[in-house]
Amino acid sequence: MTKDELLQIKEHLTAAHQMVSDLCQGNRRWTMSVPARFGYDPDLVIDHALVDADKMLIQLLSDAEQRNAPTEAGGEWTCTKCKTRNSDDKSICGFCDTPRLGG
Ligand SMILES: [Zn+2]
Repeated sequence: MTKDELLQIKEHLTAAHQMVSDLCQGNRRWTMSVPARFGYDPDLVIDHALVDADKMLIQLLSDAEQRNAPTEAGGEWTCTKCKTRNSDDKSICGFCDTPRLGG
């Protein structure tokens, strides 16, 4: 994840915190618009932050798994794009078709 993506996630989390505070203090009412108003409807503001947090967690778990993985023992390699483990006899990722780098 890039710094800009992380800063955007931080922005969405801050907006969600503010929304919860506004709802609790009675400064906002829980409304769901049709059509939906992104960045305004409380459910969407809060859900956006939750989806972001989920994406970030998946990335962090993947990074941690990568760091803790044995150094490609067991005849496998890890796709640089999607982190799928592939067996050594495959030259492209079985999940996303990204070629194996470095032979
Ligand atoms: Zn892949």
